[in-house]
Parts: sequence; C-alpha cells; structure tokens
Amino acid sequence: MASHESLVAAIDQGTSSTRVLIFSSKSVELITYHQLEIQQLYPKEGWVEEDPNEILQSVKTCLEKAVDNLRALNIDPANIKSVGITNQRETTVVWDKVTGKPLHNAIVWLDLRTASTVEQLINKTPQNDKDFLRPQCGLPITTYFSAVKLRWLMDNCEEVQQAIQDERCLFGTIDTWLLWNLTGGIDGGKHITDVTNASRTMLMSINSLHWDDYLCRFFEIPKAILPEIRSSSEIYGRVKDGLLTGVPVSGILGDQQAALVGQLCFSPGQAKNTYGTGCFLLMNTGTMPVESKCGLLTTVGYQLGKDKPVMYALEGAIAIAGASVRWLRDNLGIIKSSEEIETLALQVDSTHGCYFVPAFSGLFCPYWQSDARGTICGLTQFTNKQHIARATLEAVCFQTRELLEAMNKDSGIPLCSIQVDGGMTANNLLMQLQADLMGIEVVRPSMTETTALGAALAAGAAEGVNIWTLDPKDMSTITTDIFSPSIGVQGHYSLSFVMCIDSEILGSRTFMLQF
Ligand code: ADP
Repeated sequence: MASHESLVAAIDQGTSSTRVLIFSSKSVELITYHQLEIQQLYPKEGWVEEDPNEILQSVKTCLEKAVDNLRALNIDPANIKSVGITNQRETTVVWDKVTGKPLHNAIVWLDLRTASTVEQLINKTPQNDKDFLRPQCGLPITTYFSAVKLRWLMDNCEEVQQAIQDERCLFGTIDTWLLWNLTGGIDGGKHITDVTNASRTMLMSINSLHWDDYLCRFFEIPKAILPEIRSSSEIYGRVKDGLLTGVPVSGILGDQQAALVGQLCFSPGQAKNTYGTGCFLLMNTGTMPVESKCGLLTTVGYQLGKDKPVMYALEGAIAIAGASVRWLRDNLGIIKSSEEIETLALQVDSTHGCYFVPAFSGLFCPYWQSDARGTICGLTQFTNKQHIARATLEAVCFQTRELLEAMNKDSGIPLCSIQVDGGMTANNLLMQLQADLMGIEVVRPSMTETTALGAALAAGAAEGVNIWTLDPKDMSTITTDIFSPSIGVQGHYSLSFVMCIDSEILGSRTFMLQF
C-alpha cells in the first residue's frame, strides 16, 4: 500500500462486541482491525443492560490497538483521514452533561422491562392499537424502541428525573454517546445523532425527519434532552484527544442501515440480511416511506449528505439469531465457541423433528409479541446436542423465511436473491440451509464486514473529506460466494412454531415449505 493512501477508521459498536476496522481508500481493502467482546448484564429476568463506560473504553482501546497494528504494518496512522461510527440501534443511554457520567446502565434493545410501560402507552391510544403511531414514525409501540426505554428511565430512576429537572440530562443512542465523548465530552462534546438512529426512537417524524411535537407529547419526553438530527454523512466534529486528535468524525449509521450501505444496496428493491446477535432484513424502498401491512418496520435507510435525498427501507427484525448460538455456548455449554456449532450440526443430516424457537426476548417481526418465550420441542430419547445445534441454525433460517414472505407481500417485489453479512455468515451450513429454506440464492460477499464498511463509506464520502465516491465500480475488488437452493422438488421441511407464554402454549403454526 502506498504510504500516502488515505485510510478511514470505522467504529462498529455492536451488541456482542466493539470493533475498530481500518479501510484503505483506493481498493476498499480492510487493512487491520481490533475487536473486544462486550459484557452483557442481566440484572433481572428479561432485563439486558450494558455499561456505557465499558462501551466507551472498548472503543478507545480498539482504536489504540488498531493504530498499533497499523504501525506494525509500517503504515503511518496519520493517513487516517476520517472516522465513521456504526452502532447497535435503539439501545438507550442517559447521562449528566456536567459530570459526563451515565445516569443508568444502557438499556439494550433486547430488554423487556418496558412491557408494562408499553401496555400503558397502548392504553392511551384511541383503540388500544399498538400500530397507532405507525403513520408518524413507521413503528409499532413495543419494548424495542428507545422512547419506551427512555420513558421507563424517567418513570423509575430518580437520578434521571433530577437531572432532567436540573437541565443536566442528555439522551442518546450509542452513536450519540460515543460521538459526544470522542468530540470532547463535558468539554464541548457534540450532541448529535443521524437520521437512521433517530428513526428508531419513535420520536422522529418519518416524513419530516425532525423530532415530532406530537410524538414527544405522546411519550412525555422533553425535546431539550434529545440530540440534534443530522444526515448520515457529514462532518459532525473532530476527535478531541488521543491518537486521532483532530480527525473528523463524518459518518454515522445504525448498524443495519450501515450494512445496507456497505452492501451497496442503493437501488430500490435491493435487500440485505445481517446475521448478528439478531437478524435484520432491510429492503431499499426508495425516496418515499412504505407503510407495512405485514408487521415490518418503516425506517430511514440512509441520507448520505445534508443535501442528498433520504432513502427509506422496509425492515424485518428478528431479536435472537447469533444470541441463540451464544446461549448454547454460555448457558448450556454444549459448544465452546460459536464456530463449533457448524461442526456439531454437520454431524447429523436433519434435526429429526426437533425445533427450537429462541423467543428469549419475545417475538419481533411479524408478531410483535413481547410475552412469547422460547421453547425446544419435538424432543425424543434419540435427540442429542447435534440435533439441537442444527435446530438452532434452522430456527434462524425459518424466521428469516417469515421476514422474506412479509417483505414480498408489503413491497410487491418478490426477492429473487438476498445479500447477507454479519458474524454468523461465516457458517457455510447456515448459508446453505438458508438458501434451501427460502428457495432463492444467498449471496455472501468476500468481505463480510459490510456494517463497518458502510460506516467507513459514509465517513469517507462526506463533504470536506471526499476520499471516496459511492460508485459500486470502486468496490469491484469485493467478490461473492453464492449459495443456491439445493433441495430437490420432492423435499420438504416442516416446522411447528410453538410459542410458550408463561409456560402456557397460546398458539401454534405450521409451515410446509415445498420445493
Ligand atoms: P453483533 O454485531 O450483533 O455484535 P456479530 O455480527 O459480531 O454480532 O455476530 C456475532 C454473533 O454471531 C454472536 O451472537 C455469535 O454467537 C454468532 N456467531 C459468530 N460466529 C458464528 C458461527 N460460525 N456460526 C454461528 N454463529 C456464529
């Protein structure tokens, strides 16, 4: 690599881990990265928290280590010309702008503590309708989104109430928490978010892209604590301390939207599915928001510059995908590493009737049933850990198939292939099962760090940075693996999809997927 070639650093702050990845500008090559796992805290059943200071420290450490790696490669870190941020979405942080200290642990998107808050909010709507706010914000009222978590914090945490009263409280999703700290914190940190993250709060109008008076009144949230909403690609501020002092932070995208950009899904009808902690299928729907009739979400896809058009997306969200693999590792101990699930699952040719519904955090799209709980069914004396491992992978594929069907109905454009990325896509068996169970091609790029790439592209393309165009031709070095459906015409899978709620079986559904 030429020593003068510009570099872009992408901070990818995910639910499971933080990564900092350094890309070169010319060939869109990943030069180096550093990753640290993030501790998840489960203080009560259904509660999921992370420590905002641990998240911030993990970012700083990953930046330092990635820069050390560059030096070891004989590359001058001064070539880093911009920083992009992509983040786990909806996860909610509140902090004191005078001390810089968090007022509570971050409430993670998966957290279910707000079930009763949701009930109260739904009861406020004229017909007890969870979809009442969809026309304004594109989202149903559920435990998932930030406004509900913020409402809970305001109702249950005295420190938050006091800080709001004293005008010391700031709210942010993880992008905002990181940007504020990186650009100075108590010493002039920028309190900003981007349109994609704001579109997951339930407080932004999906049409005007401003904080919406009606929505803020509905949730009784003071606008003064909300960050400023900006596009996903512009200079927000400069890094204040440390190795990257003075480097502009010029790209912010929620992780799923970043993957949409990183997969270059710039044309309406293009879609990607990311397999991480959860699983998220997003389809670019163009410059107008499309309201879902099938339980999907309407969200901002990206706005790559202040004066650039806003592109919208339809989204199918599954709460638990890779998290179920982590559960096999951490709670059951039947694998030692996430990768091991593939070896185990390959030792059997089917699940022999064993099905796993990993509804640990309720069911998201298309059910939005927060009181659903996980179950493993179809067990016999014959069932062993190999079958359970395979059923875990199949569960991710079946859930994705449901998203695909909803997406096809809502958009009216049946997908004939799907681009994939995320930590789980290293698993070839999962990819093949997915192609088989959807009956369409699954296309995996050679560089699966598309989330980080999306943030890097947004940062590098920002006005005033201008080291990248977003022309797909510039990314021609990225090749793909294609997994084609391989089930014969007679083959079929069936799934009894049983939802156990408070140990009571409330519903069951059967799919017969014929190929
Ligand atoms: P996130 O961005 O949500 O933190 P990642 O994209 O880093 O998630 O993916 C990590 C998740 O993928 C973890 O939940 C892990 O259990 C799972 N995972 C990682 N490698 C594999 C694999 N080879 N097979 C199946 N699951 C995997």
